[in-house]
Amino acid sequence: MSKTLTYALVAGAVALGALPAMADEVNLYSYRQPDLLRPLTDAFTAETGIKVNVAHLEKGMVERLSAEGDRSPADLVLTVDIARLAAIVDAGLTQPVDSETLRANVPDIYHDPDGHWWGLTTRARVVYASKDRVADGEVTTYEDLADPKWANRICTRSGTHAYNVALVAAYLHHHGAQATEAWLKGVKANLARKPQGNDRGQVKAIWAGECDISLGNTYYMGAMLSDAEQTEWANSVKIVFPVFENGGAHVNISGVAMTKAAPNRENALKMMEFLTSPKAQAIYAEANFEYPIAPGIQPDPLVAGWGSFTADDVNLMDLAKLRPDALKLIESIDFDG
Ligand code: FE
Repeated sequence: MSKTLTYALVAGAVALGALPAMADEVNLYSYRQPDLLRPLTDAFTAETGIKVNVAHLEKGMVERLSAEGDRSPADLVLTVDIARLAAIVDAGLTQPVDSETLRANVPDIYHDPDGHWWGLTTRARVVYASKDRVADGEVTTYEDLADPKWANRICTRSGTHAYNVALVAAYLHHHGAQATEAWLKGVKANLARKPQGNDRGQVKAIWAGECDISLGNTYYMGAMLSDAEQTEWANSVKIVFPVFENGGAHVNISGVAMTKAAPNRENALKMMEFLTSPKAQAIYAEANFEYPIAPGIQPDPLVAGWGSFTADDVNLMDLAKLRPDALKLIESIDFDG
């Protein structure tokens, strides 16, 4: 009861009076947008009768869970990026979860071997290329982005953003520190402007003629096409899936973890399994232009239209471990400077 009350107070998601004492419910702390989650939580409640309370957080997940300790009402945390998932696990705020259903639905490289986090969707970090100024076949690898042929032609958001840190961690995994440093310097030398803005801002810059290629996550193409102001930007570019010379396209995840303090453990496991099920995966794929994590589930037709690709086969756990080294390298060459 006390956990339920605390939850209602912090989340403001439900009126206090509406909460039964031992409700059949599950509580989520989410960095993911409420609009994205609603179709999923509605479908889960319809199927199981379990009520889902969602507290949407902009930041501070680790701090909040730490402060709440074992009185936390949160059962599950939902977030994007392996770095953020790993940070929550490293802070000792999660518990291991395992089930046959989860193992069947989530490929091994997209979950913690000990079960502290499980991937739910994937997204590739790709190149957005000007339709007018970049020929088909001109971009093929991440390594190639350091080639002087791209001088003054590349735009990107900050090198220290989680999405780029994960990409650099993947570069480290494939090539080691020396080569990664040289690559970062090469890419920096090719930048048309200092790193700034978000992934969509780089596509806008391509549309405006400031650069010819940029780094961005795949789902932003869908997001731009859904926004009247940004449709023009999206239509000025094509998505290219670069690969590592000795690997595939860099993929990151959105994922879920069960909190150490989870008061509704059984319901939380049901929710996790539901989120990896074909039904939920189809809803996810359609709502956010991401790739389903479950093998055999087709992405949204728009997403499928961007082309097929071979995902890098590195275990995301390995990337999480390389993240501090990647960040150090990015800062040591003053990538954003
Ligand atoms: Fe994003």
